[in-house]
Amino acid sequence: MRYGLFSDVHSNLEAMEKVLSALAAEQVDRYVFVGDIVGYGADPRACVSLLKNLVEQKGCLSVAGNHDHAVCGLTPYANYSESAQRAIEWTKGKLDKDTLDFLASFPLMATTAHFSVAHANFFSPAQWQYVFDIDDAEINFKAMKTPVGFVGHSHSPVVFRSGEMVDSIVDPNVGLQENEHYIINVGSVGQPRDGDPRAAFVVYDATAQRVEIKRVSYDVDKAQAKIREAGLPRMLADRLAAGK
Ligand code: ZN
Repeated sequence: MRYGLFSDVHSNLEAMEKVLSALAAEQVDRYVFVGDIVGYGADPRACVSLLKNLVEQKGCLSVAGNHDHAVCGLTPYANYSESAQRAIEWTKGKLDKDTLDFLASFPLMATTAHFSVAHANFFSPAQWQYVFDIDDAEINFKAMKTPVGFVGHSHSPVVFRSGEMVDSIVDPNVGLQENEHYIINVGSVGQPRDGDPRAAFVVYDATAQRVEIKRVSYDVDKAQAKIREAGLPRMLADRLAAGK
């Protein structure tokens, strides 16, 4: 069984299309979306529509992200950065009731035979705390019902193994060992923040017990131009080129 996992699309259609093509070429058996289809970018409707197709036609498993819940009025966002708040307000005006109902239907957390998945963490998913270091990971290992868990939210791909953090840039291909716990951050499709502007996603081969963190280039210029044209904060366009 091969899973294709992707997260933090953030209304970046150019990046999402490239990742979905790459996952199709990888011949994954099941798609998993790790949250935040909207926020920041200029194409919320098109991205939600692509995700909806994936859910309806391919049974994509999806969990909610904080930006998805923010546009639905399900989580407060007054303490977010000004640009994040402006993008959420702008996005709300672009989505109809059916789309909001679709986003609101995602659970905060899901468990399959092979792994658990949540946007931010397993300890208190509705509070959206990050898993930044091995101490955060250890708390989450205890909260997980499976040895392997996938998250997004920080926009930086990384693998945590009991007792250590594995640098995804040094080792994008990680073999999972029995009797160990893992939390894998799948990175961000539409707004990477690890200094690599390419869209990130993960292929998890549950039979071979192997996780591969992958990157694919997309048309950054086009996504940036749309953000500027939409009147969204310019820094949301600028940061895409730097991957920060
Ligand atoms: Zn995000």
